[in-house]
Amino acid sequence: MSQERPRTTISVIKADIGSLAGHHVVHPDTMAAAAKVLAEAKSKGIIIDYYVTHVGDDLELIMTHRKGVDSPEVHEVAWNAFQEAAKVARELGLYAAGQDLLAEAFSGNVRGLGPSAAEMEIVERPSEPIIVFMADKTEPGAFNLPLFRVFADPFNTAGLVIDPKLHGGFKFEIYDVIEGRYVVLNAPEEMYDILALIGTPGRFVIRRIFRKSDDEIAAVVSVERLNLIAGRYVGKDDPVAIVRAQAGFPAVGEILEAFAFPHMVAGWMRGSHFGPLMPVSQRHARCTRFDGPPRLVALGFQVKNGRLIGPSDLFDDPAFDETRRLAQLIADYIRRHGPFMPHRLGPEEMEYTTLPEVLEKLKNRFKEAKLYEVKGPKVKTELLSSSRG
Ligand SMILES: [Mg+2]
Repeated sequence: MSQERPRTTISVIKADIGSLAGHHVVHPDTMAAAAKVLAEAKSKGIIIDYYVTHVGDDLELIMTHRKGVDSPEVHEVAWNAFQEAAKVARELGLYAAGQDLLAEAFSGNVRGLGPSAAEMEIVERPSEPIIVFMADKTEPGAFNLPLFRVFADPFNTAGLVIDPKLHGGFKFEIYDVIEGRYVVLNAPEEMYDILALIGTPGRFVIRRIFRKSDDEIAAVVSVERLNLIAGRYVGKDDPVAIVRAQAGFPAVGEILEAFAFPHMVAGWMRGSHFGPLMPVSQRHARCTRFDGPPRLVALGFQVKNGRLIGPSDLFDDPAFDETRRLAQLIADYIRRHGPFMPHRLGPEEMEYTTLPEVLEKLKNRFKEAKLYEVKGPKVKTELLSSSRG
């Protein structure tokens, strides 16, 4: 890795700043307002290139620059773009205008202010293919299962077995969103430990993945949990991810293959239900049935001297028709559970929804009835406790 060659940073920063017809789809005028801010930043040389898009009700800013991860200058550009877009959203009376902009003013970094960010700084290879994944109506942990399969499961990724550049395996940086700490674990040696954590996707989230042989970054996921930041329900934490492909990394097709199984993720209606993650084209990146099912878009770019070449709309392909059909069957099945778990999320996750307000009024209706002595550990749930403030 030469230090002489310029380093390129790819920043994908997103926010829900209000949408058309409920939580359905971003309005084109808000995208135009955001794009104008990015065009100005490009002309000033703050960013090199940009692409503005959406998935469902989430406005997505894909930017390249030379300023590194967590650059206050670049984050301010994103913040201003969201502010301008939210202004238009308010003028048009769009639903939940300004929803994800939790702070009054920008303070150096969008993290913790509402928007989510996935960023990686790289020395570009002669050909640098990347995939930007953007999801709506789900949470960052939704990427745990597919990214584990891409970077640790040889039944998904043939290159782990047959490509000497991948054969050494990858390192997983796993972030604990509750405690604010992380651990780095190696695959394949510590695969079972990795799975012991990331099988709880509401808490342990794959944040970054590195190639073990030379510590090159391979993938990054936004880990912001909006409800944990706000301490109340403000929508789901619709995540984004950047994954590098080919020549020492999994092939584009190996990366996409992991999404051919529409696994169950938390989110969907009111951020309170499990449903299948459905990979779709940009055209179908709009949530309808029960505000879903949760959608995922994948855009493929080549990055050249900081320029974004593309994109290619990677799930716009009949090869994913059966995945989408299976997702619809799963949606049919799980929807028939109505308000019952496991369609509805469990009590820990429901803490951050509007359910506690409903249960509050039942609190005093409960009467003591010690029918038997409970000796085991108490089930930890605040949902009906009197201590809730
Ligand atoms: Mg959303």
